[in-house]
Order: sequence, then structure tokens, then C-alpha cells
Amino acid sequence: MKLSDRITQITGGGSDGWDVFYRARRMVAEGHAVTQLTIGEHDIGTDASILDAMNRSARDGHTGYAMVPGTDLLRDTVAARVQTRTGVSTTRNNVLITPGGQAGLFAAHMAVCNPGDVGLFLDPYYATYPGTIRGTGAVARAVQTSAEDAFQPRAEQIEAKVDGAVSLLINTPNNPTGVVYSPETLRDIAELCQRRDLWLISDEVYDTQIWNGAHLSPRALPGMADRTLVVGSMSKSHAMTGSRCGWIIGPEEVISHLINLATHTTYGVPGFIQDAASFALSVGITLEDEIAAPFRRRRARALEVLAEQNTIGLVPADGAMYLMLDIRATGLTGEGFANALLDKHAIAVMPGESFGTAAAGHVRVAMTVDDDRFETALKTICAFASELAGQQAAE
Ligand code: PMP
Repeated sequence: MKLSDRITQITGGGSDGWDVFYRARRMVAEGHAVTQLTIGEHDIGTDASILDAMNRSARDGHTGYAMVPGTDLLRDTVAARVQTRTGVSTTRNNVLITPGGQAGLFAAHMAVCNPGDVGLFLDPYYATYPGTIRGTGAVARAVQTSAEDAFQPRAEQIEAKVDGAVSLLINTPNNPTGVVYSPETLRDIAELCQRRDLWLISDEVYDTQIWNGAHLSPRALPGMADRTLVVGSMSKSHAMTGSRCGWIIGPEEVISHLINLATHTTYGVPGFIQDAASFALSVGITLEDEIAAPFRRRRARALEVLAEQNTIGLVPADGAMYLMLDIRATGLTGEGFANALLDKHAIAVMPGESFGTAAAGHVRVAMTVDDDRFETALKTICAFASELAGQQAAE
């Protein structure tokens, strides 16, 4: 039987640079000790106070169908949080609760892309981006950013790819690079979106993990609230990855259509999960800071370790739980380096090539193991890189 093109073409097929990741998983399953610095998941679980709130809610009976757009309490809580953080007037009618940020990314593209329209995204990119766009029937078109610009996108690079595009997907703080887009970058993007009539889909799931300065949501820039869909999530800010709870913020009209989409797809998010999220958000910044603290600490330590060597370059690591290391001085590709590192030192990192082509010659290190193990692994990575660079110089 024939399947739809839409479903069979979600992934591009072929090797996608994830071999190292799967190989590391296999090694662990076979009983080898591997330090896994691969995926973006906290090494702490969801806080006990949030689990208590979840349990209370479930025991109080919130285990049936919940309101499809989200509970009034969570929509109001998210709206208030967004308004406080951005200054943009936001009510529950601007909020749809989704099963995680990923479902939000898909729904946002469903709202603005017709089949065959082009949805732009920036390379390097979070692994699901092209498939998410293709899953809606739209054409996913990458815009390369460059290591030489520290992966800050330039308006000219986007403009060169804009013909036929209806949307632009951005992500700051960024996965995989750890880069935070500067106010100038975001202003240029906002200006371009208005001039070329693009929807901006702004993935802000790492908005509580900023190590320098403050988070700037492009929805707050002049003229942008009517053309921006913000995707948020409890996953990273509250270590609730498995709870599948996120949201889309956007104009009321878009949200009302997205409620129809949710009615016909997800049928909402469990009430007890939403109550746990409302509780977690009501605790405020102290809890968010506590959850971000291990990454802040490890990133500070990483700067010290990397300052003691000159083989590896660090892409400015201003946010999110990752470091993007430039290992081009070793003469290896990101994939070659990651494979050799896994073989020789049982440390698993992600090749930059897993995230497109722009971060070739880099590896992404997730700061997701305890401080001592992280520091030891990073020092080993540095020593290994300098050994390889030395060999290369001798050849
Ligand atoms: N966007 C980015 C950039 C991510 O890194 C992730 C998760 N790794 C997501 C969206 C999706 O997160 P979730 O669905 O858990 O909210």
C-alpha cells in the first residue's frame, strides 16, 4: 500500500551524523562505562515539589479530559509570565498549551505554511527542525550561518533564501551552538520579517538558561507581536522533559485556529501535568535558577579549562546546556573526532555535522553529567585534541 509523501519524507534518509550517538548507547547497553555528553536532558529529575503537585492534582480527580486549549489556570499563568518577561500585553487568548515544545513547533508551522510553501530555518539547527516543517507539507529550506560570525545569522544570508518563504524559524538561546542572538541580530531579523512579510516562529525553550545578559523575545520588538509565534516549554526550564508540556504564544486569531488543530490532533494535555506546570511556574525564578545552576556552574568551569589550551576554540557559550567546540585544528571532521574520542576515551559528544552543514568541524558537548565527571571529560577532550593537532603538525 502506498503511504503519503508527507509521512515518508519527514526525515531526509541516509546517514545523519547520529551514528556516534547510537554507538554510544549500544556501548552502554553492553556494559561499557561511557561518559555521554550527547543529548539535552538534565542530570537531575523533576523537582519533588512539582511531583507532589502532580500527584495531588491526579488524586483530586484531574485525570479525565482537560480543556483542549489548556486549563484557564495554566494559560493565565503562562500569559502573566510572558507579559512580565517581555512587556507585551498577553492574555490566555494568546496562549495554547501543547504537549511539549515539539508539538508547538509543528502546530506553529501548520498554522502559517500551506503545502508547498517554504519554511526557513537556520543551520546549524535542532535536529527535528527540517522534519517538523516537512511534516506539515511545506518545503524546509536551510539558511547557513557561519562559524566566523559566531553563528549569529545575518539578514543578508536569510534574504538570499527568502523567495517563496512564508516563515522563518529561529532559536535563541540556541541548540546546538549555545549562542544567544544579540539585540542587533534580532532587530535585523524583525526588520526583514516585516519587509518580506514572513511569520517569525521563535523557539524560546531555553529562555531561562542565559549566562550573559537577559533573554530578548523578538515578539517584544516593534511591529512583531502580530507576526510572531513563540514556542515555549516546561522541559528545559523546569526539568520536566518527560511531562510533555509546552505552549505557543501568538495573535488571538492564530491561537483560535490552533485550538481547532489541537481538538483534531492531541486533544490537549493531561490536567494533572498542567496543574504541576502551574505550580512550578508559580514558584517563580528561584526554582528556575536552581534548575539552570548546574549548567551555569559547568559552563564557568569549562571557560577556565578551555583557557588553559589553544587547540580547541569555543563558540561564545552564552546560553542553553551546550558548548560548541571548534576542533578544526585537529584536522578531523566533527564526526571523525567524535568517533575517535568515543573509541579512545569512551566519551560521547555530538558531531557538528549532526546539526546540518554549518557546524562541520565542531562537536557539541552537552553539560549534562555531574561537575567532576564533566570537568574530567572536558580535560580529556582538550588533551586528545592537542595530541591530534600535534600529530598533524608532525606529518
Ligand atoms: N526546541 C529545541 C531547540 C530543543 O532543544 C528541544 C528539545 N531538545 C525542543 C524544542 C523540544 O522540547 P520539548 O518538546 O521537550 O519541549
